[in-house]
Amino acid sequence: MNHADMPSSAPIPTPAKSADISRETAESRFHTQHHGPVSDFYAQAPKVASDAKRSRHAQGRSFATRCVATTPFDPTGAVVPSIYLASTYAHPVPGCDPRPAPMPCGTNEEGGHSYQRWSNPTRAAVEVAVASLEDASHCYAFATGMAAISAVFSTVKTGQRVLLCASLYGGTFQYISNYFPSRGIEYDLVADLNALSTQDIPADTAMIYIESPTNPCLRVVDIAHAASLAHSVGAKLAIDNTFQTAYLQRPLDLGADIVAYSATKYIAGHGDVLAGMVLANDEEISEQIRLAQVALGAPLAPFDSYSVLRGLKTMVVRMDRQMENAAKIRNFLTAHELVTKVYYPGSHDSKEAEIQSRQSRGDGSVLSFDLAEEVNLSKFVGALDIIGYAVSLGGVESLLCHPASMTHASMNDKQLQAAGISKRMIRLAVGIEDVDDLIAELERALRAGLANCSEDKA
Ligand code: PLP
Repeated sequence: MNHADMPSSAPIPTPAKSADISRETAESRFHTQHHGPVSDFYAQAPKVASDAKRSRHAQGRSFATRCVATTPFDPTGAVVPSIYLASTYAHPVPGCDPRPAPMPCGTNEEGGHSYQRWSNPTRAAVEVAVASLEDASHCYAFATGMAAISAVFSTVKTGQRVLLCASLYGGTFQYISNYFPSRGIEYDLVADLNALSTQDIPADTAMIYIESPTNPCLRVVDIAHAASLAHSVGAKLAIDNTFQTAYLQRPLDLGADIVAYSATKYIAGHGDVLAGMVLANDEEISEQIRLAQVALGAPLAPFDSYSVLRGLKTMVVRMDRQMENAAKIRNFLTAHELVTKVYYPGSHDSKEAEIQSRQSRGDGSVLSFDLAEEVNLSKFVGALDIIGYAVSLGGVESLLCHPASMTHASMNDKQLQAAGISKRMIRLAVGIEDVDDLIAELERALRAGLANCSEDKA
């Protein structure tokens, strides 16, 4: 039951037995602090989100357990978080109400809520859960991955410079090529950040922004090295960790200052919600991201916050299965006569392979491959049945796309070439289906792509 339905005279339900707040404390806090709809923990959640290291979820628990144990204390005993849909919350009346007035950011020291764009109990619950996965002290949830990335770039000012790895998600490329020039921000796309030394970093650099592995070429960037390059000129290192998640790679531990996610992908995992996250430990950066969440106005909605929390619970089992499948498919494609190249983390060269094994616990489940000249793209794709021909990744279902015409369609030929994206490249996001079915389907589609290939090549 949502507390919004509860009359103020209703008896306070017994808290869940596992809660680390005693019933007496919870009840008395509920009575003294709230005449409104929020439970003690939910009211406190925004504050806890600001310091997830103190969250009960994080302490002494393994990663898989943290993914599952995401339900905040709720005096009703509910074992899944409630969805608080209210757009606004009653303010206390000065002089008549024991509650302190909400502060402008939306929550006061006691955790009262004011307006959903500023704070929301369900959003706070997912922020605490995601922060706890990598022991980040701050996490902010956004409506999409791109909203999260826009918030990261909002911290860069006119006249400053950003260095980015050349192989990037197409939407990020679309952002920088459209908004950096109009905002007066210089940027350079760097083909190999691993080869740079501190002398190569321009003094006006405010941020180095990377993906590792990159989308869709699966290039690997040395995160610790990129952090030392950034810090040598007082810049910040920001990384889009979508392809790995904290399960495989923990950028904050390697020196990154900001971690962004499209939680649409592995974190939520079911292709039914868009979401983004930004994590940081630094107070000043976190304040800037918090401002972007409120002032740019794209926080994660309550129902979507719930969907992400629900998906997160199975992330470890999903990713384990996806990686097991991807490893078998990689072997199949590597040996296939109709595939000329397979891209995976470390496939570029031995240096990247060494970096990948040093900084990551696994290769994830996205891989790309080039179709041989004689395979017609339309016929190959037309023969697919189980594997969807669609953008996105990280869901339970396998999806396959043609980056040059889909995810990276905003790039011209020269930009595609600079990013290392071939016109014959296919990106495959491996799901949790039976791998034998997936391999049989790929084999059939590759053979189907051969028919009449001379008439209509991709
Ligand atoms: N980052 C990466 C690596 C992505 O692949 C995507 C989307 O595909 C995004 C960010 C953007 O995420 P969203 O679609 O949730 O805005």
